[in-house]
Amino acid sequence: MRGKTAVITGGARGIGESIAKLLAKMGANIIIWDVLEDQARATADAIARNHGVKTLGAAADVTREASVEAALDAAVKEFGGIDILVNNAGVTRDGLLIRMKEEDWDLVLSINLKGVWICTKAVARVMLKARKGSIVNIASVVGVMGNAGQANYSASKAGVIGLTKTSAREFAARGVRVNAVAPGFIRTAMTDKLSDEQRGRLQSMIPLGELGTPDDVADAVAFLASDRARYITGQTINIDGGMVM
Ligand code: NAP
Repeated sequence: MRGKTAVITGGARGIGESIAKLLAKMGANIIIWDVLEDQARATADAIARNHGVKTLGAAADVTREASVEAALDAAVKEFGGIDILVNNAGVTRDGLLIRMKEEDWDLVLSINLKGVWICTKAVARVMLKARKGSIVNIASVVGVMGNAGQANYSASKAGVIGLTKTSAREFAARGVRVNAVAPGFIRTAMTDKLSDEQRGRLQSMIPLGELGTPDDVADAVAFLASDRARYITGQTINIDGGMVM
C-alpha cells in the first residue's frame, strides 16, 4: 500500500475509521471525507501521528455532487491521484414499512445509494485516466436477505450491490476494480446499546456465535483494495459470521 492514496467516506468514526487506520498501517496515505468536519480532521491527524503517513480530513457531503467535486479537487491537488475509494458513509432511519416517513426513505437512499454513485462518478474519472484503481463499497447483509423495519436501508444496500456490479463491468477494461463487502452485525456504538436479551437473540442467528468487529470489516476491505485482489471484481463478500450462505 506504500505510496498509494485512499479516500474513505464517512471515515471520521466507526467502521470507516477502522478501515482508515488499517490502510494507514499498511502504508497508504489517507483522505477522510465526512460531514463531521472537525472529527474528520481529528481522526486524520491522529492517523498521521500514529502511522507516519500523509493524511487529510475534509468536509464532504456525499449527497451533494458540488461538495464531493470540491473535496476531490483539493485531494488531487494535494496527493496527485487517488488509488483507492472506500464508499463507507451510511445511515439508518428504521421503522416498519407502512409507518415509514417519506423523509426517512429519501434520506437513507440519498446517503447510502446516491452518495455511492456520486463519489464513484467523481473519483472514477481520476482512476480511469490513470488506468488503475480499486473501489470498495460498504453494503450490508440486509441488502441480500432483507430485514423487518429496514425497508429503506435494505433497499439502499441492495442497490449498492447492483451498482457495484455495473461499475465493475463499466470500469474493468481500464484496470479499475469495484467490489463490495456486506457486513452482518458489527460491534459498534449502535450495537453496544442493545440489551443482553437482544444481543443473545442476534448471536443465536450467527453460526460463528458472536458479533463481528470493525476490524473484521477493515481486513476484508484492505484485501479487496490491495493488489492481492487483482483478479477480483464485481464481487460482494459477506462478513457476517456465516449468517448468509
Ligand atoms: P457510523 O459510525 O454512523 O459512521 C458513518 C459515518 O458517515 C459518520 O461519521 C457519519 O456522520 C458519516 N456520514 C453520514 N452522512 C454522511 C454524508 N452525507 N456525507 C459524508 N459522510 C456522512 O456508521 P458505521 O456503523 O461505522 O457504518 C459504516 C458503514 O457500514 C455504513 O455504510 C453502514 O451502513 C455499514 N454497515 C454497518 C453495520 C453495523 O453493524 N454497524 C452493519 C452493516 C453495514 P454523522 O454521524 O454526522 O451521520
